[in-house]
Amino acid sequence: MSSTNIVATPESLLRQEVLDLKAYPVPNSAGMVKLDAMENPYLLPQSLREEIARLVADAAINRYPDADAQQLKASIRAVIGLPQSLDILLGNGSDEIIQLLALAVAKPDATLLSVEPSFVMYRMIATFTGMQYVGVPLTEDFALNLPAVLAAMQHHRPALVFLSYPNNPTGNLFDAEVIAQIIEAAPGLVIVDEAYYAFANASLIPMLTCYPNLLVMRTFSKLGMAGLRLGFLVGSKAWIAQLEKLRLPYNVSVLTQLVAEKLLRHHDVLLLQSEQIKQDRVWLYERLVGVADVRPYVSNANFILFRVMHADKIFNELKKRGVLIKNLNKAHPLLVDCLRVTVGTPLENEQFIQALQESIHQFN
Ligand code: PMP
Repeated sequence: MSSTNIVATPESLLRQEVLDLKAYPVPNSAGMVKLDAMENPYLLPQSLREEIARLVADAAINRYPDADAQQLKASIRAVIGLPQSLDILLGNGSDEIIQLLALAVAKPDATLLSVEPSFVMYRMIATFTGMQYVGVPLTEDFALNLPAVLAAMQHHRPALVFLSYPNNPTGNLFDAEVIAQIIEAAPGLVIVDEAYYAFANASLIPMLTCYPNLLVMRTFSKLGMAGLRLGFLVGSKAWIAQLEKLRLPYNVSVLTQLVAEKLLRHHDVLLLQSEQIKQDRVWLYERLVGVADVRPYVSNANFILFRVMHADKIFNELKKRGVLIKNLNKAHPLLVDCLRVTVGTPLENEQFIQALQESIHQFN
């Protein structure tokens, strides 16, 4: 190496926006009651696990996966009843699809707009793909502020608008009429992120045929397949065909394709688990209402946001008691003293409520 060579450091080489980012935090949850990440707490029935074991044993993992994942896409199409005029794009989790959309439109000065508080990856991905990010605050009760969104769209002309439906981390469904008005006024694409649709009984997929600038995204993660990493985007053939060019050819593995397709054939099992989670959400909400000084928010997802005095301390006390939830206290001004708990099994929910009561008791 010549002495004039300057060895690159991260600081000298990386883009400033990358240097300024904080990596998405994933806390160590070993041995904890894990209620921080909106996972489905249930394993599959034993007989189905054995069928999957046999499938995996015979899988051709020496070969690349089917790049088009034709069978899996056909199964998804059948389960959601997708009209022939619409197409599907698959992602390695829906996070990858958010990134792909951002990469597709990231011209200099292109803007991604979302509402706040919402899913943090919208902002993160906008930042690391070099897009401008605009976050329009929700109202105090976490509803869409339509005049503010319309004004921000007028001003920033966003290429992408992301709306989480139901919203993470607040758990509520925005008014579909208001979303329709946003879609009508948007100068670019509107992506409705239905990560939690299984717990909501509401979807904007029927609106897809009315609005060519609408795309709907879903994930299998909250349905019991977080470990498989599979998400999908539905929209018009014209949009999906262009976006396909950016999808890395083998982004959905052989094993993911096989197992997801198998599970879609047993959709009833997944739906039963989601029904159980919805029932337990009612139980958890009512128990939270009954805990002194706690204010839970009504949720259409598999988690509940709640406000409590001394949220940081309560979060740490819960951790000491082996219960991991999500601390959102410093995430956004509208989330001061807010924590978010995922609906777990009935036993986990009991353990959480017990630990919460003890923790609150410490500070009163
Ligand atoms: N969208 C929303 C609203 C989410 O909350 C999440 C996960 N927390 C995702 C997308 C990403 O899910 P995945 O990458 O597991 O599909």
